Amino acid sequence: MQQHGDQYIGGAWVASLGTDSIPVLNPATEQVIATVPAGTGEDVDAAVRAARAAARAWGATTREERLDHLTRLRDGLAAHQQEIAETVVAELGAPIGFATPVQAGLPLGVANSYLEILAGYEFTEQVGNSIVHAEPAGVVAAITPWNYPLHQVVAKVVPALAAGCTVVLKPAEDTPLVARLFARLVHQAGFPAGVFNLVTGVGAVAGAALAAHPEVDLVSFTGSSAVGAKIAETAGAGIKRVALELGGKSANVVLPGADLARAVNVNVGNVFANSGQTCTAWTRLLVHQDQYEEAVAIAAKAAAKYVPGDPTDPATRLGPVVNAKQRDRVRGYIETAVAEGARVVAGGPEAPEGLETGFYVRPTVLADVTPDATVAQEEIFGPVLSILSYRDEAHALEIANGTSYGLAGGVWAADNETAAAFARGMDTGQVDINGGRFNPVAPFGGYKRSGVGRELGRHGLEEFLQTKSLQF
Ligand code: NAD
Repeated sequence: MQQHGDQYIGGAWVASLGTDSIPVLNPATEQVIATVPAGTGEDVDAAVRAARAAARAWGATTREERLDHLTRLRDGLAAHQQEIAETVVAELGAPIGFATPVQAGLPLGVANSYLEILAGYEFTEQVGNSIVHAEPAGVVAAITPWNYPLHQVVAKVVPALAAGCTVVLKPAEDTPLVARLFARLVHQAGFPAGVFNLVTGVGAVAGAALAAHPEVDLVSFTGSSAVGAKIAETAGAGIKRVALELGGKSANVVLPGADLARAVNVNVGNVFANSGQTCTAWTRLLVHQDQYEEAVAIAAKAAAKYVPGDPTDPATRLGPVVNAKQRDRVRGYIETAVAEGARVVAGGPEAPEGLETGFYVRPTVLADVTPDATVAQEEIFGPVLSILSYRDEAHALEIANGTSYGLAGGVWAADNETAAAFARGMDTGQVDINGGRFNPVAPFGGYKRSGVGRELGRHGLEEFLQTKSLQF
């Protein structure tokens, strides 16, 4: 077991000022694999001061200097793909076959994309008799969740550094190890002291102290809507900018004429990936009433291929969920669904057979779910798919838009034009058309209670810039 007592502050690993630690559990074995310090308000203060001290010089670097550093960081990410994947398998329970391309590969792809974007970005613009400069926003607080623990770090820290901001990162309690690995790579890349700082700790202590710190200019947060609301309140009081990437309850709408089997099979894979712990997961499958039973049968059959198992086994497609609390929460939602009249066509609330150890949940498909059912309204964050039926397109749109969230979605139709026209009516930040692939440079973010601001691509860089105009 690794026992860590240090934080990465001011370019060095320094002893945490607190005495408490956070145990890191392997969700498949329930064994404690490491401890990290539970950072205090004093740790956060030291980190923010270091970031503030470095901000002016880093903000004044040339594009080429920042590109040099970020290229070395990208090379570090590339050289450590296996260690990254294994770390995420150990602390999150994501299957290695998924962790390698997605949990390790996606952040590398995002880092690469920012090298290109930074190389080509116009930081100055002539507008009439003014020159408008895009300047760094200053000191950034990055607070991240556990479900894509390196991707969410990279999607904030890399564009922030590219913009010329300095950063203090507070990663999720469950997955601090890959964040520590990232800090090592930042260090090896030779960034000036204080440009990047890491404080591990409990959200209500270290996270809250960071969001409230008067020397932080911008808080970039990914996590639950409940905590996002608190962060926005704190930031509002301090007149700080916020970027919030929150939860979702995304709908995948299969219109008549679409390839039903493909749409349903892709949906099942989408919702069970990462054990359902994906904020954009299509947790609601909407099918026309005439095709409803056919879709239910296809989904049940597809779900049977997702047998929960050891995430270190390359054949495993479904690992455990992140912790015991999350497991109990997900099973509780399945029980609630049944109590509200849903029909379980795959899985269920019981523990999967032969998996007494580990935070496992059966991959579950629920039919006869009504639009106002708890499982159709609240984010579950587990391997649970609800199938709903609609009468006509207007009804489908009403159901799709009938939650407080608006993060993602899918539409399938006989042709892309029909699907895209429907998608334009959806109150959501991104929609995949007929199975369109995830695009790491397309803006990512939510409508409604799914968030404020956008990550990834050029939009993601611009979150960390502020504008100054000089008139001549
Ligand atoms: P969470 O909101 O509990 O925690 C997220 C982060 O915030 C953690 O680092 C946590 O320590 C910190 N935190 C907790 N309380 C805090 C406080 N009072 N002040 C400051 N920081 C605090 O969420 P989670 O359980 O880690 O993640 C699951 C949730 O995140 C889901 O709702 C999911 O949809 C959402 N999520 C959204 C996106 C997105 O991009 N939209 C991506 C991933 C996860």
